[in-house]
Amino acid sequence: MEKRVYNFSPGPAMLPLPVLEEAQRDLLALPGVGMSILEISHRSKEFTQIIEQAEANLRRLLAIPDNYRVLFLQGGAQMQFAMVPMNFLRGSDKAADYILTGTWGKKASGEAKTQGKVRVAWDGQETNYDRVPEQAQLDLDPKAAYVHFTSNETIQGVQFPTEPDTGNVPLVCDASSDFLCRPVPIERYGILYACAQKNAGPAGVTVVIIRDDLLAKTPHDLPSMLNYKLLAEAKSLFNTPPVFAIYMVKLVTDWLLAEIGGLAKMLELNQQKVQLLYDAIDRCEGFYDIHAAPDSRSLMNVAFRLANADLDAPFLEQAAQRGLANLKGHRSVGGCRASIYNAMPIEGVQTLADFMLEFCDQRK
Ligand code: PMP
Repeated sequence: MEKRVYNFSPGPAMLPLPVLEEAQRDLLALPGVGMSILEISHRSKEFTQIIEQAEANLRRLLAIPDNYRVLFLQGGAQMQFAMVPMNFLRGSDKAADYILTGTWGKKASGEAKTQGKVRVAWDGQETNYDRVPEQAQLDLDPKAAYVHFTSNETIQGVQFPTEPDTGNVPLVCDASSDFLCRPVPIERYGILYACAQKNAGPAGVTVVIIRDDLLAKTPHDLPSMLNYKLLAEAKSLFNTPPVFAIYMVKLVTDWLLAEIGGLAKMLELNQQKVQLLYDAIDRCEGFYDIHAAPDSRSLMNVAFRLANADLDAPFLEQAAQRGLANLKGHRSVGGCRASIYNAMPIEGVQTLADFMLEFCDQRK
């Protein structure tokens, strides 16, 4: 087998090795089926079992209450940027509140503006999106259609430690880049959605967890594929779903349950991993600079700069030679970014932390 590198990409990102091995082993014929997952009908009894198991796994991992539906949709997280306001803002005299903590939250609010009135409940622009707001800083409208926030900003590397309190106003969360990285109290959410390609599987499917009472509010004149109520009634099989991607979500959630032991354990591991990087950066005293303010630091994406930007290129080049791939930061923030999602093994993070210390010693 070709040697695998440690892939620090923000997404699509690493998948757990045992998951890839299982998918590879069963690619030609699913056990007991004699056909590939790529060949079976989405209406077959075998696929029905797979999608039901994926949902059951998610329900177990996140303790999703019975009054929530779990949908497997297409169009990525950005389709949700549009579907949320199409279903819950269009034609309403209410506005939707958006909390802007970085690139993705701004994009989501931009899409909502095409459908209705948007209010900004908080905007982190003043400090270049290096933090999340405290509850007291939020300017929330008690009559808002919903409040939208991004639990983890993938590019800036800032993450909410807990969800904002929005009282009776439905809370809508783009959890694309921290889904399944820790336990989440789903009952506090109206909708939580996440594209799969960071923590849950490959690109092609987006998980949407939505409270039942919201489904009753969807408009009747939307195209079917954009209507949450119809998609929920069809159990995500309104049209042909991304069968392979859903199968992979089942394998990843099997792995989280059986090998990791659930999300509390996953959180512990993620905290250990990220601490290795923060400790290395602290030890280098000013050589590296983390974008996020300490209280807002993400468990998943560590965006950092080298104080001397001329060293970015040699840093990235030497890292790549060590099998530490895709550490270049997003052009809007610059510098470097280590995305260390669930599937990044602790050995990968340790190798990066050791390299960062060594590079600092060499160049200081
Ligand atoms: N939201 C967040 C937080 C993301 O990180 C991303 C992708 N990087 C998106 C939304 C967009 O996802 P997609 O490409 O699936 O539309």
